Amino acid sequence: MRILKFGGTSVANADRLKEVIAIIQQSADSHSNLAVVVSAQSGVTDELEKLCELIISDKSKADEIVKNLEQKNFAILKELLPVAQLPASMAEVMSMINELSDIVKGGSLVGEVTARTKDLIFSFGERLSAYVISEALKTKIPDAIFADARQFIRTDSNFGYAKVDFATSNKLILEYFSKHNGLKVVTGFIASNANGQTTTLGRSGSDYTASIVGAALNAQAIEIWTDVDGVMTADPRYVTEAQSIAQLSYNEAMELSHFGAKVIFPATMQPAMAQQVPIWVKNTF
Ligand code: ADP
Ligand code: ASP
Ligand code: MG
Repeated sequence: MRILKFGGTSVANADRLKEVIAIIQQSADSHSNLAVVVSAQSGVTDELEKLCELIISDKSKADEIVKNLEQKNFAILKELLPVAQLPASMAEVMSMINELSDIVKGGSLVGEVTARTKDLIFSFGERLSAYVISEALKTKIPDAIFADARQFIRTDSNFGYAKVDFATSNKLILEYFSKHNGLKVVTGFIASNANGQTTTLGRSGSDYTASIVGAALNAQAIEIWTDVDGVMTADPRYVTEAQSIAQLSYNEAMELSHFGAKVIFPATMQPAMAQQVPIWVKNTF
């Protein structure tokens, strides 16, 4: 088993997704067992955060964000799916969007968005992204399936930054992966508490999802596909001389991520380290 995680910029639009699909296909050619973890398209979680504020202050602007999210996902489907597959997948996107619209309406009527509602709203970013990618992947890998991590990552109720219950999650992950065949496209970042309510692992938490799933399945490797050449000596956006670091211990990686290397979510190293699963940070581009 090998876990491939693709971040927001890697899945931002149809063109980028074509490259992601090629990477997955190539990997599937040489490895029999793969699972994919994906983030929301870049900018979407920020938009959903804005949405949470607009629900109270400006309902029509909030509706606009929901509409844009629908259009973004429709555009990807139209570009990547054969015509025959379109109606069913567009209907599924529409149904998720309708669910989100209902939540927006409810929040606007009540005049508040709680931390719990906010996590539920955030979940649509990863759910839409993973669903659309699973549909697009099916054209090349027919047994690709959408996997909603809320079904197998269990947390406490600390909405926005929930703590993972590893004993329960590991059991649920093993069960889910043995029950469902096919290449799973898993939603990053989201989980659920014991009452089935949606929680999130903290902003940028999709890396952590990949590690939680990879460690539970005792994967051979966890691959974090992003938009830079691995972990570097500094953020290459600000430091042009930044250089790739060939190898780091889990502890070094953890320290670096805590004190500035935003390239990998700090908690990611823990589950991987516990099972000694190597983490590779690779450049999608
Ligand atoms: P993704 O959406 O794929 O999760 P992120 O934006 O979370 O990607 O992380 C990748 C970004 O992290 C890079 O574009 C880079 O600007 C930034 N970054 C910050 N510090 C580092 C570092 N030390 N090494 C590499 N990238 C870094
Ligand atoms: N989409 C979430 C965020 O923007 C999680 C992630 O990208 O890792 O924070
Ligand atoms: Mg990230």
